[in-house]
Amino acid sequence: MSGNLREEDVPPPGEAETSHPGVTVIAGREATVGAATVRRILPTRGHRTVGAWCFADHFGPTDPARGESLGIGPHPHIGLQTVTWLLDGALLHRDSLGSEQLIRPGQLNLMTAGHGVAHAEEDPEGAPLHGIQLWVAQPDATRDGAPAFEHHAELPRLELDGARATVLVGPFAGTDSPARRDTDHVGVELSMHATTTVPLDPAHEHGLIVAIGRVSIDGQDVEPGVLAHLGTGRDELRIETADTARVLLLGGQPFEARPTMWWNYVARTRDEITEAHRAWTERDDARFAPVTSSLAYIDVGPPPWT
Ligand code: MN
Repeated sequence: MSGNLREEDVPPPGEAETSHPGVTVIAGREATVGAATVRRILPTRGHRTVGAWCFADHFGPTDPARGESLGIGPHPHIGLQTVTWLLDGALLHRDSLGSEQLIRPGQLNLMTAGHGVAHAEEDPEGAPLHGIQLWVAQPDATRDGAPAFEHHAELPRLELDGARATVLVGPFAGTDSPARRDTDHVGVELSMHATTTVPLDPAHEHGLIVAIGRVSIDGQDVEPGVLAHLGTGRDELRIETADTARVLLLGGQPFEARPTMWWNYVARTRDEITEAHRAWTERDDARFAPVTSSLAYIDVGPPPWT
C-alpha cells in the first residue's frame, strides 16, 4: 500500500516524544489511499514510532458499490517492511522480485524493502476489504540490504482467557511467529469475546489499535481510529470489553533512531530519500525493478525540500 506521507504528517524534530507506563489515546486522521479513505493511526503527533512500527493505516470496510477500492499500482519503498493484515476480503500482492501472492484474512504478507523494492496491491475481487497495513522501520543493520517477500498462510494461534490471539510477528505468550524480524518487535491480533489480560515485555513500548468494536484500558475508551500508546514498564495489559472486539497489539524496543519519512520511504536523512525518489522517477531498474501489474505506476513530484 502507498503511504502518501507528507512532511507535516510527522512531528518536527525536537518535539517531545514521551514514553511512560500510562495510556495516551491519540486520534488518527483520515488519508486517501487508492480510491478509499483510511484512518492513519501512525505516525501521529507525539509518537512517530511504537518500537519499530512506524506506520499504520486502518482501511475499510470498503463499499465497492460506492466505487471504493484499495487497489494501488506499482510504487516504491525503501528502509521498511510492509505488513498486510486483512479482516475481510482479499488483496493480490505483486512486486519487483516477481512475487505474486493473494492474501486472505488470518494470513500475513511481509515485504522487506531494504535498499529498494516496488510493489502493487490489486483488489482482485471487488469485494469489501477491511484490514490494517503497517510498516516496520528497518534498523541500520538491514535497511540498505536486499529486498525480500514472505507469505505466511498459517500463524501461531493461542486461546487466552477471553480472546484468541494470532501472532503476526515476534514472540508472544510462549509462542513465536515464523515471520522475519529485524528488530525486537511484536504484533498480535486479539479476537476478543470477553475482557482479557495479555502478557507484555516490560522493555517494550506498546500500541493498541481497535479494528472492530470498542475496548477500555485503564478506564480509557479505545475505539477504531485512535492509537492507545503505552510506554515501557508494563508486564501485562488488561483489555476490557463489554462485547466482542478485534484489536491489534503492537510492541517493541523503542526504535534505535528517529526515522525520516516521506511518501513511501523510510530513511534517516532527506538526502537518502531524494536519491531514492530520483531512482524511482527515472525508473532506475537497478534499484526498483519492474512490477507486472494491471494498474498504472504511481508517481508524485519531488520532495518539498528539493
Ligand atoms: Mn506499499
